[in-house]
Amino acid sequence: MGHEWAVNLLGEHIRSGGVRHAYLFTGPAGVGKRTLALSFARALSCQNKPSPGDYCGQCRPCQMIARQQFSDLAVLQAETVGGEMKVDTIRELQHALSLTPYETDRRIAVLLRFHEANENAQNALLKTLEEAPGKSILLLTADTPENLLPTIVSRCELLRLRPLSVDALGRQLQKNLDIHLTRALALARISSGRPGIALRLHSDPDLEANRKQWMDHLLSLLGESMAQRFDYVEKQVKLKNSSKEERDQLRMRLREGFIFWQSLWRDVLLQSSGMGEEIANVDYRPQIEKLAAAVNAAEAGEQITRLEVVSNRLGNANIQLLIESLVMSLPAVSI
Ligand SMILES: [Zn+2]
Repeated sequence: MGHEWAVNLLGEHIRSGGVRHAYLFTGPAGVGKRTLALSFARALSCQNKPSPGDYCGQCRPCQMIARQQFSDLAVLQAETVGGEMKVDTIRELQHALSLTPYETDRRIAVLLRFHEANENAQNALLKTLEEAPGKSILLLTADTPENLLPTIVSRCELLRLRPLSVDALGRQLQKNLDIHLTRALALARISSGRPGIALRLHSDPDLEANRKQWMDHLLSLLGESMAQRFDYVEKQVKLKNSSKEERDQLRMRLREGFIFWQSLWRDVLLQSSGMGEEIANVDYRPQIEKLAAAVNAAEAGEQITRLEVVSNRLGNANIQLLIESLVMSLPAVSI
């Protein structure tokens, strides 16, 4: 969805026979890096191409790649989002690339969230990039190229994906999901122009109730004492005797909640820069106006960044400590 310039560039590489050995897709979570990498893999492997550089979506390779189960495709990543990618993953990658292609004429490997790779893994990948067999193709995704070894970035074709404008994403969502434009624009605003997040929100049957609940939580936390904030975290993060599945569900719930919190702080930023008509949470306009008068733009921006960092670290850090430090860092404002 969106990113036409990137789609055109990749299509041109296929059409002109100039496909590179390694690509790096960067951008914030939910912007579409993995989707684009897998679409590129389909365009490379499709057995029934409607035109060069395109794919049919119906043939066996197209369908299997979409499910990440194609024999000539390896998809590798750290065990959990926010986890650590170790050198073992790169050894798996080297093995995958060394195999003879089975159904097509090349092996493709996708390394997701490569910013989670530790130093050993990054160094091992660097060696792979220098020595990998001729026709194999490596597709990496990462949050920003700045978190990777510069020598890795320079060996890849870099495609920086940015969030779409609210209008562009709203129109796409309206068309693709066949929904009302008002809802499509609301999804585009809350997701800050990130298609993957908009789609995830759309598939939540309790979206509206969840959004309101998280918004009310944040607004009341701002007026609460430190002791009340600790109590809130205790109640939200019940970890005692929890199973792995329950902890994964908790992480998912928190990630969604933090999207709503980010959208509130973004509204505060918009309001304080005189763009109040653009806010996502229009039903909270009075509270947003009050907040914008009490909290400066830099503070609101810091909260957005902090929520991004906390979302990314939920996978491997102590969840309770992480959420406590987030909630304690909220400014004190009575709404
Ligand atoms: Zn196909």
